[in-house]
Amino acid sequence: MSDFKVQLTDSQWRDKLSADEYRVLRQAGTERAFTGEYTDTKTVGVYRCRACDAELFRSTEKFESHCGWPSFFSPLAGDRVIERRDDSLGYVRTEVLCANCGSHLGHVFEGEGYDTPTDLRYCINSISLKLEPADGPSVY
Ligand SMILES: [Zn+2]
Repeated sequence: MSDFKVQLTDSQWRDKLSADEYRVLRQAGTERAFTGEYTDTKTVGVYRCRACDAELFRSTEKFESHCGWPSFFSPLAGDRVIERRDDSLGYVRTEVLCANCGSHLGHVFEGEGYDTPTDLRYCINSISLKLEPADGPSVY
């Protein structure tokens, strides 16, 4: 785990992040369902990593999963995130990490029957993200 572009020591991360951000991003915590600021957000824009500012997700891939966390059916690009096996709860999940800094974002689930192009649900903590709203209708 030493090949990320952004490399900070543990104390540097603690200085940079709030206690809640640190707990999720650096200790793989999970914010409580339906408490995150982006759970139901429909604002058009790009979601960046709150730890390193890398662009990770777009509002165009966000969908209403009703699961209590912001959900995307795809990352902005496949190489923006890293997926790895997580059996910390006693069953297998797939953890999603920022490919730029290695911070924890959430988990990805598949085959749940959502009506999306991928049938994947990237279930991401709001606190791991920072929304950058698009500037009006002239984005493209
Ligand atoms: Zn990051």
